[in-house]
Amino acid sequence: MTIQKVLVIGAGQMGGGIAQVCAQAGFDVKLNDIKEASYTKGIGVITKNLSRNVEKGRMTEDEKNAVLGRITMSLDLQDAADVDIVIEAAVENMAIKKTIFAQLDEIAPKHAILATNTSSLPITEIAAATKRPENVIGMHYMNPVPVMKLVEIIRGLATSDEVYEAVEEMTRKLSKTPVEVNDYPGFVANRVLMPMINEAIYTLYEGVASKEAIDDVMKLGMNHPMGPLQLADFIGLDTCLYIMETLHEGFGDSKYRPCPLLRKYVNAGWLGKKSGRGFYEYS
Ligand code: NAD
Repeated sequence: MTIQKVLVIGAGQMGGGIAQVCAQAGFDVKLNDIKEASYTKGIGVITKNLSRNVEKGRMTEDEKNAVLGRITMSLDLQDAADVDIVIEAAVENMAIKKTIFAQLDEIAPKHAILATNTSSLPITEIAAATKRPENVIGMHYMNPVPVMKLVEIIRGLATSDEVYEAVEEMTRKLSKTPVEVNDYPGFVANRVLMPMINEAIYTLYEGVASKEAIDDVMKLGMNHPMGPLQLADFIGLDTCLYIMETLHEGFGDSKYRPCPLLRKYVNAGWLGKKSGRGFYEYS
C-alpha cells in the first residue's frame, strides 16, 4: 500500500502540526477545516514554525517554500476523493468524529486508510461508523507535533495487518517512532498522563498549594520539563476534560472523575493557551 496523498482534517494545534510534518516528509497534503479562519490561523503557525527552522539554519528558504507548496487549503470533505490516507484531528467529540468518518467512507477511495488522532476515544467505535473498519486506525501524535517523537498507533478490533504496517511505515517516514497499542480508553499515553493532570487540578482545587507551587514540585522534583497545570493549558482544558470523561465512562471507575474546577474553567471558556487563558494567562 503506497501512501502519497494525505488529507488532514482540523487545522488546529494538532492538525496543523500533522500537516507540517507530512509536508516536510514529502507527502502532498490537503489541510481541511470547517472554518476558513481556522485554516488561515493553522497555515500561519506552520509558516512561523518553518521560518524559525530557516533562522536556525535547519532548512533553507527554498526548502521552506517547497514544504508550504505541498500544503493546500480544503474546506470541503469531497477533497478526500483522491487521497491515500485521511488523518482526522477535529475536536475530541465522538458524535462529530462518527459523522466525519461516515462521510469519509462515502467519499474516500476504497483503498484509503481512515486514521484518527483521537486522544482517547475508542477506535473500534469510530470504525463502526464506516463500512471499512479494517481500514480504520488510531494515529495518536503528541503535542507539539513537529517536536515530539512518539506516535501511538492503535489497532481497532478489525484493523488489518496491512493497514497497520502501512501506517507504521508512514510514521517512520515522518522521522517519528511508532508504538503499537491496543484499543482501550486513553490508550497508554493519556491513561497514565491525564489522571496525573486531573490530580494536580484537584490539588489546586483543594487549596493544597498554588498553581505555581504545584508546577514547581513536578518540574524540580520529578524532572518534568513542564508542570502539569501548564501542560494542561498547552493540551487544551476542553480536551483534558473530554479525555477524563472518556476514561470515567469507559472504565466506570470513580477514580477517573474529572475535577469540578476543570469543568468550571471549560464552562467559562478558559481553554488554556489556545483561548488566551487557562490556569495561566497567555498574550
Ligand atoms: P483544536 O481545538 O486546536 O483544533 C480542532 C480544529 O478542528 C479546529 O480548527 C476546528 O475548527 C476544527 N473542526 C471542528 N470540527 C470540524 C469538522 N467537522 N471538520 C473539519 N474541521 C473541524 O484541537 P486540537 O488540540 O488540535 O485537537 C484535535 C484532536 O487531536 C482531538 O481529537 C484531540 O483529542 C487530539 N489530540 C490533541 C492533543 C493536544 O495536546 N491538544 C494531543 C493529541 C491528540
